[in-house]
Amino acid sequence: MKSIYFLSLNSIQFVPYAYGLLRSYAEKDARIATNYLWKEPFCRMAPVEVIVGQIVEPDILCASCYVWNHNQQAQIAQKVKKKYPQCKVIFGGPHVPEETTSYFSEYNDVDILIHGEGEIPFRRLLIELLEDSPNLQKIDGITLNQNYTPIKTPRSAQLPRNLPIPSPYLKGFFDRFLSEGNSNTIALWETNRGCPYSCSFCDWGVRAMNKMRRHDLDKTIQEIEYMGTHKVEDIYISDCNFGIFKRDLELAKKLVESKKKYGYPKRVRIQFAKNSNDTVFEISKLLHDNDMLWGTTLSMQSVDMNVLEAVARQHIGISNYKKLKDRYLEARIPTYTELILGLPLETRDSFINGICTLFDIGIHDDIRVFELALLPNAPISRREQRKKYSLQTKIKPLRLADSGNALEKIELVFGTSTMPYDDWVYCFLFAEAIQALHNGAYTRFLAIYLNDQHLLPYRAFYDNLLQFMLTKKAGCFASFRRIKKLIQDFYDDPNMPQINRLLTQPDIMEFLRSYNPQRKGWQPWTYLWLSLSESIDAFYENVCIFLNQYGIVSDKILTDMVQYQKDIIIQLNYDPISGKKVTYQWNWFDYFFENKKLQEGIYTIRYTDTHTGPSHRYPLGKNNKKKFLDAAMGISYPYTKFRHFFHQPDMTEKIQYLPS
Ligand code: SF4
Repeated sequence: MKSIYFLSLNSIQFVPYAYGLLRSYAEKDARIATNYLWKEPFCRMAPVEVIVGQIVEPDILCASCYVWNHNQQAQIAQKVKKKYPQCKVIFGGPHVPEETTSYFSEYNDVDILIHGEGEIPFRRLLIELLEDSPNLQKIDGITLNQNYTPIKTPRSAQLPRNLPIPSPYLKGFFDRFLSEGNSNTIALWETNRGCPYSCSFCDWGVRAMNKMRRHDLDKTIQEIEYMGTHKVEDIYISDCNFGIFKRDLELAKKLVESKKKYGYPKRVRIQFAKNSNDTVFEISKLLHDNDMLWGTTLSMQSVDMNVLEAVARQHIGISNYKKLKDRYLEARIPTYTELILGLPLETRDSFINGICTLFDIGIHDDIRVFELALLPNAPISRREQRKKYSLQTKIKPLRLADSGNALEKIELVFGTSTMPYDDWVYCFLFAEAIQALHNGAYTRFLAIYLNDQHLLPYRAFYDNLLQFMLTKKAGCFASFRRIKKLIQDFYDDPNMPQINRLLTQPDIMEFLRSYNPQRKGWQPWTYLWLSLSESIDAFYENVCIFLNQYGIVSDKILTDMVQYQKDIIIQLNYDPISGKKVTYQWNWFDYFFENKKLQEGIYTIRYTDTHTGPSHRYPLGKNNKKKFLDAAMGISYPYTKFRHFFHQPDMTEKIQYLPS
């Protein structure tokens, strides 16, 4: 028997799904099933030496590589190869570059690269490696390392439309990971594969060759039964377009049935079909009504049509987007929108206007902004695209490496022909400020009121407020100036990692650790949000000073509005046992949550929240900083801004209403 070891390292507790699919498909061949001994795969990130120490007399070492694990796995391979020179090292996954000219001069311990979809070439490799004199060059879809020289074979065929892969769940490959002791493990699950689009910043559409294929329906239904009976709390559907097929609604119904029958799965995380449709809506509604949804993506990447065209992103137009949003809003289904900072043709103006356009069409809850990264196989990484849009990039550490781990790297865009570096810094800061102030609700209701009453449009409010915060020396704004400096330092400091930027800043971490010393997943906006929570009175006083400069005086109605805005934010001293009762002179609750006209009178409401977050999972506790952190802002992964930050409308009681 030949022994196979498999690396699929991740700092998030996912099941080793790539291993499962590849093994399931490979073992359909009796020669593989009877001649290979599969060792337990490695999927938890651990120091190189620890993993190397557990690999004993391997015949084959495989690794599924992405941006978060490639270098770590390459170091493991190097040490294993030194110990066991006869071991064949096979690397596959999205991070394996199509362009392999210089790959082996850097990673000479890798023997074989598999490109694109792995099942067919991997199975053929395993069969060929059973021969005394294997002829690997006859296998399509791979590159061989011949003394540092790459020998690349023609592109491999793809699996057919009905994906012929037996279920790794039903075969029991993940039983150990999903045993009760590992209840935090997230089940990755694929129901279809491929993407019909080809956005230039993404390696997914290219990788999957754009053809959509599906797993067998009966098999996927049996997998749901398995996940229910194995008490899987969270499922991450890895399809990039769930909801593109009508049958996906049937699968969603089965997930709900399973939750009702077994109590599991509790939550499902989905990347929905990009051009959202009726099926996506029905699925979202069903899962939302059963408290299983993390939120529905209403995908944008940019609001500017020229930008979307430059990156070959399909779009439906902003008016259709608004119709979609209204539909979700009416059904009270949470949505989130992703934007990418640094795309070709984006300018400072178009980026900021874009965010304010999202507010205009009613998107207030969750706007996520990511920096543009150039992935090895994404079309935008090609030389001609870099040149065409003058992409200015730097290679940065991805995250802080724990002791004994390799440093992973990522290439980020810091400027383009239309967005010089200084504008990039401002847009980055603007995006973080928006996530703290508007998504995080410190000024959301005030901004909506000012915009709707034609007192100050969103753009004027947020752009000028941010400038005011950066120039006024008020202590309550210090965190915004600090984050601006952090963004600039990030560009200059070659050692500051992208993901754990804040962990490298002792002053910021001293503050954040007082809320949770263990948490690592901090974003700039989370620091801004928590900082404001400690100076909330001074913050609103200064916001009023800012408004006065624009002729918006602190009269009776503005004072009452700001009071409501302040009260609705969840604060550390909020007592979930007694709740909070407050009286206003205007019907703010009706205005914001029931679409009613503003009316003066006496309006007493009580905030009664005891838990926050999706499926009400985070308990509040008066003056308990750890509980406050999780309940007010959510955990670091998988994060959502849904049902956080402020007292929720469904937990607000109208006590006394006396319109004048
Ligand atoms: S970004 Fe999404 S829609 Fe675009 S190619 Fe990638 S997976 Fe497909």
